[in-house]
Amino acid sequence: MDFSSQEEKAQASAAIVMGFFGRLIRFVIWVLIVSWVIKLVGRLFSGASQPAEPGGHSATPDDPAVRGKRLVKDPVCGMHLAEELALPMSANGETQYFCSQECRAKYENSVLRRAAGA
Ligand SMILES: [Zn+2]
Repeated sequence: MDFSSQEEKAQASAAIVMGFFGRLIRFVIWVLIVSWVIKLVGRLFSGASQPAEPGGHSATPDDPAVRGKRLVKDPVCGMHLAEELALPMSANGETQYFCSQECRAKYENSVLRRAAGA
């Protein structure tokens, strides 16, 4: 019977187990730190490239900002322009939009001429 060698063996195996767990814990901590750093760096880069935060403001047709930028057509020159930039004129119950005073005057004249000729 050799108790001392038995005890040494047990201590050696305990040291191996402790060393294994120590390395495992260190490995897990490293994985957590690396994944956190990757997430942080990714967020920094995505934040720099696109200022819109996810789940935040998104452009939908119901959005007033989008509705305000409706395109209208100038019936004189055929030019498309934003409604807010166009010159409106009510004629025959409907509103016409023009790119300039000139186009509006031309349309007015043609409407008056048509009205006079009819
Ligand atoms: Zn025009």
